[in-house]
Amino acid sequence: MDVDVIIVGAGIAGLTTAALLVDTGLTVMVLEAAARPGGRVKSLRDSDARHLSDLGPSWVWPPYQPILADWLERLGVDTFAQFEEGEAFIEMAGRQTLQRELPPQSGIRRIEGGPSALIDALLLRIPDHAVVCKTPVRRITQIEGGVEIGLEDDVVTGRRLVMAAPLRVAAELDWRPALPDGLTAAMHATPTWMAAQAKAVAVYETPFWREQGFSGRIASQIGPLGEVHDLSGDDGAPAALFGFVGWPLEMREDEDLLTEEILYQFARCFGEDAEDTTHMAIEDWAANPFICTETDRTETPRHPEVAPDILREAHADGRIVFAVAEVGENSPGLIEGAFDAAQVAAATLIEAFALDAEAGLGED
Ligand SMILES: Cc1cc2nc3c(=O)[nH]c(=O)nc-3n(C[C@H](O)[C@H](O)[C@H](O)COP(=O)(O)OP(=O)(O)OC[C@H]3O[C@@H](n4cnc5c(N)ncnc54)[C@H](O)[C@@H]3O)c2cc1C
Repeated sequence: MDVDVIIVGAGIAGLTTAALLVDTGLTVMVLEAAARPGGRVKSLRDSDARHLSDLGPSWVWPPYQPILADWLERLGVDTFAQFEEGEAFIEMAGRQTLQRELPPQSGIRRIEGGPSALIDALLLRIPDHAVVCKTPVRRITQIEGGVEIGLEDDVVTGRRLVMAAPLRVAAELDWRPALPDGLTAAMHATPTWMAAQAKAVAVYETPFWREQGFSGRIASQIGPLGEVHDLSGDDGAPAALFGFVGWPLEMREDEDLLTEEILYQFARCFGEDAEDTTHMAIEDWAANPFICTETDRTETPRHPEVAPDILREAHADGRIVFAVAEVGENSPGLIEGAFDAAQVAAATLIEAFALDAEAGLGED
């Protein structure tokens, strides 16, 4: 199999890069380790595979994120306001609980159908056969005129490669020859946003907390969820609450106990109805080796900063570029960062292919 560009990783950044390259007539192959495209974007689905809620990102800030706002429009995806009306619970370490309205979060919005709607819209722009799941890339070999990736029963060659996997995961692959030390160091030094987080989602028949005058927000020093928010769809359906798990990694392994404690936390704030979920899920991203590395698991999470320029430059004589949210100069680590990184990577490659064509390279 031979394509113009091999893309490793089918998250927002990998798929956006693919869509932009396909638009210009280039051939791509997106190799994805997981059984589904989306990466950190993941839906909790019902038995008919309909989206119920988000197990990865939930929020966007279109007023402050012009690149994201542009892509929402291009992909025909709508947003609605995050529900925040009513009182929040503040659970203090000494077991005292306060109830009060918290100031609304400026510009915060949710995506109709969840961020998976972005993935579905991007997939429509890429030929089906060009996205290959359950295909973890382990080794990347530079060959004359391109790169080569050996799969279980095939070899894929491409003139160029987009690395759209989290940087620390990518740094641990078998690169032949090895990437320059400075580049590898920059990859290791860039944390993957939310990689070590676990997100819990509980779905209900109705958003009963709203009827009681509660916003669904909890800020807790007791846990197990450190913060909780309303994650219902527009107009309250499907009704859902979500929170980030504050327990250390080892304690999360007992999922039954964690579920029990989460429902107990919901019930002590919102009453016994909170134990009557229709669906409940905990997504522990720290357990996903294609998102989270040992370094992500052990270091204190940091807010994303703009990564060094070396990660936005082309390497190996222009053959290799990176496109993952943490590389984006705008909103690094966030959905907008993924779109930004993809645009930059695609523009770099499109220019390189145009120069090749001018020079008569790459033509049979
Ligand atoms: C719990 C959680 C909450 C979040 N909340 C928000 C939020 O509210 N708002 C926001 O803007 N952002 C949020 N984020 C961040 C957001 O999800 C990411 O910015 C975005 O999804 C990253 O997309 P990406 O394509 O850059 O990378 P990823 O989604 O990480 O995609 C990388 C892909 O590469 C694949 N891969 C890795 N290694 C290999 C390999 N060797 N071979 C083949 N494939 C490989 C992975 O399986 C994955 O599919 C959140 C993230 C999490 C986990």
